[in-house]
Amino acid sequence: MSTQTVSTSAAFEVTVTTTPAEPCTLLRSRGPMPAVDVTVTTTCRLCSASHAHSGTGILRDMWEILLPKLEHTLWLKPGQEWVEAHAGECPLRPLLVEQYLTVGGATVDIKVVPESGSAAAECGGCPSTMAIDLPYISGDIESARRWAQAHAEKCRALPKPEVSR
Ligand SMILES: [Zn+2]
Ligand SMILES: [Zn+2]
Repeated sequence: MSTQTVSTSAAFEVTVTTTPAEPCTLLRSRGPMPAVDVTVTTTCRLCSASHAHSGTGILRDMWEILLPKLEHTLWLKPGQEWVEAHAGECPLRPLLVEQYLTVGGATVDIKVVPESGSAAAECGGCPSTMAIDLPYISGDIESARRWAQAHAEKCRALPKPEVSR
């Protein structure tokens, strides 16, 4: 059995576990061919919830060719669908609690993680975040508000064209 990480992001990790399976005998002329069972696991880094799906009896040689290119196949799709659904359900996800309008017309978002109460603020117009500007200040709601107000008064950046958050 072997497990390897195939993709990671700030919020999710995808690992693939490969275990030897019964050899495949479909191609009689070639005799039994080594096969593997495969499990793809997608894990939320925030709450550790995970989703797994698997395939059985895959020709080992084929899988070894496929594995490095997995991100371009449909193998990761069920996990990606789960990630989209989980983003709205994760108990540790940051929730948008307040927004400030900047002089440039963008918004500064304050998000709070309900479980811990930790707050973060980021500008939707420019790359500024409270964490970048004031890394030494703890992420409570009051400091997030102070940063958001001060930033909103001076940021002239226009809203980013695509808002994906
Ligand atoms: Zn989660
Ligand atoms: Zn800004």
